[in-house]
Amino acid sequence: MSQQLTLALSKGRIFEETMPLLNAAGIVVTEDPETSRKLILQTNDPGVRVIIVRASDVPTYVQYGAADFGVAGKDVLLEHGGEGLYQPIDLNIARCRMSVAVSAGFNYASAVRQGARLRVATKYTETARQHFAAKGVHVDLIKLYGSMELAPLVGLSDAIVDLVSTGSTLRANNLVEVEEIMQISSRLVVNQAAMKMKRERLQPILAAFERAAAATL
Ligand code: ATP
Ligand code: MG
Repeated sequence: MSQQLTLALSKGRIFEETMPLLNAAGIVVTEDPETSRKLILQTNDPGVRVIIVRASDVPTYVQYGAADFGVAGKDVLLEHGGEGLYQPIDLNIARCRMSVAVSAGFNYASAVRQGARLRVATKYTETARQHFAAKGVHVDLIKLYGSMELAPLVGLSDAIVDLVSTGSTLRANNLVEVEEIMQISSRLVVNQAAMKMKRERLQPILAAFERAAAATL
């Protein structure tokens, strides 16, 4: 069996914030995914390659063993369910929070108090469902794939569940954060079979990731 390792990453903040961790493991990606159109990137280590996939597809590639390991946000992992994945390390990168937001004029507390049925638009339907069920709030969930901020502005929904870091996108669209659901960071996920079969190759990399992630706290 080949001991080649494949790491699944998404472009953007996860790729950028994973690079220092990879470097700490002695691995340097020799191509830039932003300028190259390649989806398979080589590294200075002939035994390690990086594949570039959509953020929400990282758990799927790792679950089926098309990638041995990957980096995915807690938001993405909760929606995926984590089946077939080891989640050994919180890398503490790509930090943000998942929150409920509404239009500035909407009285969220009063709507919840009165037991009104709330229309909630989100990409994170699984997490939203659990959050509102735990609070005993009745919701109609509307699945979206992006630009959630628009939904309350045009009357698609009363509220959104979305990721927030600085809050500037919410402010720019006259929305107010009314509830924090959870803190989000990205985690390393490892294919369960690879964890057994490729342990010798994976272990030093996981250890380096863990040390580097702890050093940034
Ligand atoms: P796509 O753009 O392919 O639809 P995405 O928007 O989920 O997917 P990114 O924007 O690259 O992809 O986000 C990747 C991960 O980074 C998210 O899953 C989340 O964990 C984290 N993230 C998203 N938004 C922020 C943010 N504003 N600040 C910090 N981390 C964030
Ligand atoms: Mg995005």
